Amino acid sequence: MIEVKELTKRYGATVAVDGLSFRVEPGQVTGFLGPNGAGKSTTMRVLLGLDAPGSGEALVNGRRYAAIRHPMREVGALLDAAAVHGGRSAFDHLRWLARSNRIGVRRVTEVLEQVGLAGAARRRVGGFSLGMRQRLGIAAALLGDPGVLMFDEPVNGLDPEGVRWIRHLMRSLAAEGRTVLLSSHLMSEMALTADRLVVIGRGRLIAETSVQDLAGRF
Ligand code: ADP
Ligand code: ADP
Repeated sequence: MIEVKELTKRYGATVAVDGLSFRVEPGQVTGFLGPNGAGKSTTMRVLLGLDAPGSGEALVNGRRYAAIRHPMREVGALLDAAAVHGGRSAFDHLRWLARSNRIGVRRVTEVLEQVGLAGAARRRVGGFSLGMRQRLGIAAALLGDPGVLMFDEPVNGLDPEGVRWIRHLMRSLAAEGRTVLLSSHLMSEMALTADRLVVIGRGRLIAETSVQDLAGRF
């Protein structure tokens, strides 16, 4: 479960997140919807301990990220897939992550198969397309078999088949009882994938609604 309470985060004069509160429950896909610049990535970065909160709290399973003993076993995330380093093979990249998080190396083969990269495991990540990087980032998120997952714009760079694959993956992760937060600026994507929506704009909560209720209004 994810809890964001009265979170505010500024970068200089920019208020990226402004008194934001919401919860993400297990067993469903929660869409985090808002235009570019709304504060979605900032919120996820704070939840993942990559940025300090200005004020307020961002908790995963009731704790700050820094207080979680084996973070990758509790929370997996896909943030900026384009940023994955290029020198190593996909297998070596994941093996290094597994080792540094005390996750068995057997999981590396499993997640590479799960994301459809088994055939590219020995290839250098530098030669990967954006879609392959997304898949690799998702493999990293799944590595620790975490109960909480966050995906920031995961369909970027994917072809239609990849988009359908992501949708199916999100639905299965939620059906397994995991907590899934999916950020996107595309309502069309959310309508097909999410059960519930947290809508933000300019760092503030605009609406929290079930996708069914929202669809009923059109
Ligand atoms: P979203 O993910 O919804 O597109 P972001 O969280 O990336 O939104 O950005 C929210 C606001 O904070 C934007 O105005 C953005 O320019 C600003 N911002 C985000 N990260 C930084 C940073 N590291 N330094 C300065 N401004 C930032
Ligand atoms: P360590 O795991 O040794 O404490 P870091 O936490 O800095 O080191 O993580 C090392 C690498 O693992 C980085 O590339 C980071 O992006 C990635 N990473 C960390 N936590 C997660 C996570 N929950 N999901 C996916 N990747 C993660």
